[in-house]
Amino acid sequence: MGPSSAPRVVVLAGGVGGSRFVLGVRAALRDRGLTDTAAALTVVVNTGDDLWLSGVRLQPDVDSITYALAGVNDTERGWGRNGDSERVNRELQEWGAGWPWFTLGDLDLGTHLARTGWLRDGSTPTRVLERMSHRWDLGARLLPMTDAEVDTVVTVREGDGIRSMHFQEWWTRHRATLEPVRFDNPGIEEARPAPGVVDAIAQADIVLLAPSNPVVSIGPILSVPGVREALRAAPAPVVGVSPIIGGRVVRGMADVCLAAIGVDTSALAVASLYGARAGDGLLDAWLIAEEDGAVADEVAELGIRSLVTPLWMTDAARSAALAESALGVAGI
Ligand code: GDP
Ligand code: CA
Repeated sequence: MGPSSAPRVVVLAGGVGGSRFVLGVRAALRDRGLTDTAAALTVVVNTGDDLWLSGVRLQPDVDSITYALAGVNDTERGWGRNGDSERVNRELQEWGAGWPWFTLGDLDLGTHLARTGWLRDGSTPTRVLERMSHRWDLGARLLPMTDAEVDTVVTVREGDGIRSMHFQEWWTRHRATLEPVRFDNPGIEEARPAPGVVDAIAQADIVLLAPSNPVVSIGPILSVPGVREALRAAPAPVVGVSPIIGGRVVRGMADVCLAAIGVDTSALAVASLYGARAGDGLLDAWLIAEEDGAVADEVAELGIRSLVTPLWMTDAARSAALAESALGVAGI
């Protein structure tokens, strides 16, 4: 990065945790006097949460990030559009269409209808997202991880047997209470990274793994063939932020997901899941919470530089300060 050129930052992110972090990165870049943050900040978004419901394509993580960057998200509920209503949802329920336990807001449905229409007209998810990004001044370029449909399927234990369901059914209807055995993204072996993803990583000055769910948000992104290789080959440092604070997940049910793949809910265990780039993994540096400072040495022994810093993203200023620490690893 030359002194006069804008830094190029790539963030891999899921939905809610991801969007808080991305808002922080955008704020940190703005604090550096950058006005065109969209040219500096690329977000590669998990699409493993996506699904077809009532004839429309939902992209929960993509929409969470888009709405948050646009400032139109419902911050109290934590999902969907601010000030939304549910007239259409009630009507769908009268018809017995969709899922009775999955609410679709009216404004949100507008997004899904627009998206589905463009997809049906032959556009790709990448181009649809680009088009949707123009509505607001997002200050970031958003890319889906892939244009392929690779919705996450959860296999759960049931009695003596097993049963599979869409991730959203497991997460929203069952609140992750059914014991998961496996998470799969059928078809992902044949998927390709969305256009722009590999180039963005290759040209980045820093690549950040948001403190998103390692299994069902970051996991699917890393499972798209070519993404892991791109990260390992990136000239820039790859810096992760722990989603675990004080040995606990902060919001959501990521601990259940981690347990299913045999990983402890700890900053050290997630660091070793991602692995050191110095070995056969991905991370050059890992930001851990002050509450987890005791594992810093063990993280370092994995071959990953560990930085102990406040990780709570309870407001915009704290998210920005966290992003500052992460960008600092690359001297940005
Ligand atoms: P989802 O797709 O909406 O489930 O959201 P993400 O996968 O992007 O983020 C969920 C993860 O974010 C959870 O596993 C939390 O542990 C983590 N998380 C949420 N809030 C915070 C926070 O304030 N700080 C940190 N470090 N992690 C957080
Ligand atoms: Ca998600």
